[in-house]
Amino acid sequence: MPRFVDSHCHLAMEEFAPDLPEVLARAAGAEVERILVVGSDEEGSADALELVRSKGDGRLFAAVGIHPHESSSALSGIPGSVKRMARSPEVTAVGETGLDFFYDHSPRDVQVRVFSEHVALAREVKKPLVVHVRDAYPEALEVLKRERADECGGVIHCFSGNLEEAAAAIDLGFFISFAGPLTFPRNAALRETAAALPLERLLCETDAPYLSPQPRRGRRNEPSHVTFVYRALADARGISLEECSRVLWSNASRLFRWGAE
Ligand SMILES: [Zn+2]
Ligand SMILES: [Zn+2]
Repeated sequence: MPRFVDSHCHLAMEEFAPDLPEVLARAAGAEVERILVVGSDEEGSADALELVRSKGDGRLFAAVGIHPHESSSALSGIPGSVKRMARSPEVTAVGETGLDFFYDHSPRDVQVRVFSEHVALAREVKKPLVVHVRDAYPEALEVLKRERADECGGVIHCFSGNLEEAAAAIDLGFFISFAGPLTFPRNAALRETAAALPLERLLCETDAPYLSPQPRRGRRNEPSHVTFVYRALADARGISLEECSRVLWSNASRLFRWGAE
């Protein structure tokens, strides 16, 4: 039986407050056995860690950090509480962090500074980075190189760049994670990129509640839907869903140090 990982979602957000037990039950029913719950700001990171501690039963893991949209909230540095949480055993990654020059919700120089601090934190606590990039691949790769992110590794989540950008991240020891957009009909080029990269460096995610995959578009996304992303990846590469899920399970275990079982 294939088993799946959702390598990135925001289960602690209020969108899931009304029915979280049902959402988790549907994930279990779809064999989504491991889920990374990601924080985007100080409060959201605390919520993610609390959710993992209270509902985890070994299937849930947390990532803590400040999203590039929220960089302006960390003008005087990453909050001390986030740095402390990053050392918790339930926290298996630092993020999400990165650069978003599409929305520019925070000034670019602030985004670069706060992103750089996350790389330093990840190296310090020896955990991988969860990196968000939108319209800023050259700049993000430059920060990762300059700050020696190859020492901690990580994942570029919800990848939307081109083959050269993915290859450059992989050269730095990073993984590439695909989300719902891999299933969208117009994204043939993204599927070509996904087919050309080494399978042992790929992950799949939902980024729930956002980015529902093709048959569920327009509705709230949730971890059980990650199977549609796996299916799109397997089809793009001409491999079975079983092989795809087996390799990606091992990839996620390696990156987040979850243990193979
Ligand atoms: Zn993101
Ligand atoms: Zn996210």
